[in-house]
Amino acid sequence: MSDPLTFASPAIEEQFYHRINPLLRQIALEYAEEAFQRHGWIWHITSAIRTREEDEELKGTGIHCTGRAIDVRTKDQPKRAVDDIVTKINEEWVYDPKRPTFLVAFDKPHGTAAHCHLQVHENTGRRQSNG
Ligand SMILES: [Zn+2]
Repeated sequence: MSDPLTFASPAIEEQFYHRINPLLRQIALEYAEEAFQRHGWIWHITSAIRTREEDEELKGTGIHCTGRAIDVRTKDQPKRAVDDIVTKINEEWVYDPKRPTFLVAFDKPHGTAAHCHLQVHENTGRRQSNG
């Protein structure tokens, strides 16, 4: 079966499969599958790589310009499904052990463009399991 993923445009699809950070792609594919299995939620990726101009217009932090961030639409999903997947990602992955307040996934519930932002850093890794 192909990945349970859709894209806002062919350009974003090309960025996702060929240009974004490979670890970010790996994490996205893993949790898109989880989201589909657990909630029947097919991820729709609305943003990947942005130009500086596009990012400034959206008041971004610049991380989308580096290929280390993507956005997934959440406005059509129940809050419990979004919370479940966001929590799971952050329980299983650490963005940067030196800066624990930074997260791999967070929900941006603003207006009609509500989305989940996923990001990675060079120090991003799977958390050590206790079991
Ligand atoms: Zn974002």
